[in-house]
Amino acid sequence: MTSPSLHRPLGVGEVARWDIETDVAVIGFGASGACAALEAARGGASVTLFEMGSGSGGASALSGGEIYIGGGSDVQQAAGFEDSPEALAAYLKMAGGPDADHAKCDLYASESLSHYDWLKAQGVPYKGTFVPGKIIEPATDDTLIWSGSEEAWPFSEQAQPAPRGHVIQFEGWGGGRKLVDILERNVREAGVEVRVDARVVSLIADGPAIVGLVVRIDNKDHYVRASATVICTGGFCMNQDMLRRYAPEAIKLANPIGENDNGSGILMGMGAGGDAIHMDEFFTTCPWIMPESLVKGIFVNRNGQRFMNEDCYHGRVSRTMIDQPGDRVWLLVDNAIFARPIELARIDIAAVGETWEEVEAELGLPADTLSATVRTFNRYAAEGHDPVWHKSAKWLKVLDEPPFAALELNFATSYFSFFTLGGLSTLPTGEVLDRGGEPVPGLFAAGRATSGLPRWGHGYSSGMSLADCTFFGRKAGTSAAASAKASQRVAEPA
Ligand SMILES: Cc1cc2nc3c(=O)[nH]c(=O)nc-3n(C[C@H](O)[C@H](O)[C@H](O)COP(=O)(O)OP(=O)(O)OC[C@H]3O[C@@H](n4cnc5c(N)ncnc54)[C@H](O)[C@@H]3O)c2cc1C
Repeated sequence: MTSPSLHRPLGVGEVARWDIETDVAVIGFGASGACAALEAARGGASVTLFEMGSGSGGASALSGGEIYIGGGSDVQQAAGFEDSPEALAAYLKMAGGPDADHAKCDLYASESLSHYDWLKAQGVPYKGTFVPGKIIEPATDDTLIWSGSEEAWPFSEQAQPAPRGHVIQFEGWGGGRKLVDILERNVREAGVEVRVDARVVSLIADGPAIVGLVVRIDNKDHYVRASATVICTGGFCMNQDMLRRYAPEAIKLANPIGENDNGSGILMGMGAGGDAIHMDEFFTTCPWIMPESLVKGIFVNRNGQRFMNEDCYHGRVSRTMIDQPGDRVWLLVDNAIFARPIELARIDIAAVGETWEEVEAELGLPADTLSATVRTFNRYAAEGHDPVWHKSAKWLKVLDEPPFAALELNFATSYFSFFTLGGLSTLPTGEVLDRGGEPVPGLFAAGRATSGLPRWGHGYSSGMSLADCTFFGRKAGTSAAASAKASQRVAEPA
């Protein structure tokens, strides 16, 4: 008998017995798996959820529990911000990059508020308060923050800015565990059969259709017949082989974040004929914006050149750093704005001088590179604008108060957390598409196992991944339940 493999499904003819039978099998118990299982069960399907860990969680439980929601939520309105589905869609499309999934952006924008109501109906609490400023996550139990590049060029020119990061009510960072616990409670109440310590090692195919999976429990393979299977296994930031092959730029970074982001679901989907897209895309951030005065500094690369407007979302700026030549960039600050970056960021002072020429020399850069960049920046900042990178006037400050310093963000030693954004190509329904654009029968996927709403590292904004996981997880569950019912009707004798 052929051994089960992530890379090709087992033929149904090789299955001697079915150990478990279910309408819908969901693989992975993070946010996307929970939402898929929940909606599949509520859609009338019998659902079995397989999780390789000893309980629910995944990256979702490690997260901040922040979800990108817009269109005019109660909190946005209470804080005096105008937002609309159109503005949200426009921003999502810009944030999705050159190949943004317009169908998903439009659908999410039009249903974002009802999704927010759905989350609340599951018991997810929101305090309803806004925290101004540039922060990573609230240090309190507040709700709404600016979590992207909405106010920064070029986004502000094309999409009416509004804060859209909605954070679960939780004191401090890390409300993701609470979010998953609430979803898990609903999953269990909906009658989903949950199997933990259960690692899925292969799909099972009958011709082009996926009809089940092989799951390893207590080191023994169990054969599961399922009319529909939903892959919700997260991304692949913890699979070095896949990173080397598909996202080599991410290998520069030392801090993958997640739980079991091993890419197994993406591999199984590809093995079943599914297309995987944008596999080179990843989110990264080094939390350099805290304290906020540092945003008034300017970044230069090893050529002494500035490379973007520093008032963008910290992740967009961090991702652009990785495009620069060499293995580090420097944040230039003067005495007026200097502050020690938060310890987590592991940002060190690389050079200090009474003039920018001294800083330039101490960094070993050719004369008149860094200092020329600062001269140009200062000249225009004094006039209140930035014609080179369009940093907004609010964050412009002439860097003229000595001593001056270069803070080093080193890709290998500073804290550049990252996770992948590439994955299976899916319709908004969650159906996995093959390379010809046709659905693979019986196969669905959601979350970071897919290339979803967030699919461009340079445009990612906080909250977009969980928005995608929870919303399109729900869609995948609903579709899987409907597909399971339809396939059973076909199988019934007339
Ligand atoms: C520290 C941190 C903070 C973050 N903060 C935010 C935030 O505030 N907002 C936001 O939008 N995003 C945030 N993110 C990103 C976001 O949390 C993830 O991208 C998202 O939760 C992924 O959800 P998922 O359901 O796709 O995968 P996961 O939550 O990782 O779930 C996948 C599950 O599948 C299981 N699994 C994998 N392979 C198998 C297999 N073969 N068989 C069985 N089970 C398997 C895993 O064990 C895991 O439990 C954060 C991430 C981290 C790490």
